Amino acid sequence: VENIIDIYKQESARPLHAKAEQHLMCEEHEDERINIYCLRCEAPTCSLCKVFGAHKDCEVAPLPAVYQRQKSELSDGIAMLVAGNDRIQAIITQMEEICHTIEENGRRQKQQLGLRFDALCSILEERKKELLQSITQEQEDKVQRVRGLIRQYGDHLEASSKLVETAIQAMEEPQMALYLQHSKELLKKIMDMSKVSMSSRPEPGYESMDHFSINVDYVAEMLRTIEFQTGA
Ligand SMILES: [Zn+2]
Ligand SMILES: [Zn+2]
Repeated sequence: VENIIDIYKQESARPLHAKAEQHLMCEEHEDERINIYCLRCEAPTCSLCKVFGAHKDCEVAPLPAVYQRQKSELSDGIAMLVAGNDRIQAIITQMEEICHTIEENGRRQKQQLGLRFDALCSILEERKKELLQSITQEQEDKVQRVRGLIRQYGDHLEASSKLVETAIQAMEEPQMALYLQHSKELLKKIMDMSKVSMSSRPEPGYESMDHFSINVDYVAEMLRTIEFQTGA
């Protein structure tokens, strides 16, 4: 028994704990320091209480040992909390990263969408240019052909008018011999002139450009229903 008391007294005499334990004396034994811990009652007590008193049948341990154990339990608890906090901070950081990635992804998709629509617009512009070119081509071909005919008719008209003039002059020739010398040739010219076929004319509806109308209703409907790819 004395040996146990000695051990407890020795433990309590450690300078590290001496100061804190100096003030705590046993209520039962006024001269005894509280220097052991009853493990069953979970309470600090004195050596005499263990040997003779309330904690006679209890299992006890030196106060510093329990102090150290509980301190290390608390420090484990602190470490656990800190680890938990670190984990929460990591999750927050991760979610902030997710926000950033969402914004980044949104920005990229908007940019891609813009490029797709720009490409569509340039296809429209290109096709418009091609079709306008087709109309211009046919318009010019047709006008050129009609202008050619006008020129042809004009030339004929000019020649015919000259012949009229010549014929009128011939009519005024008073000398019969002189008149007859030219009249046969003149008549032949008039006959030839009248035989020249002037039937070449633009066919009915030649001026129409109606066949250049386009129907874009279905394309417009497709444009209106452009959607995001599903399952992509
Ligand atoms: Zn006591
Ligand atoms: Zn006890």
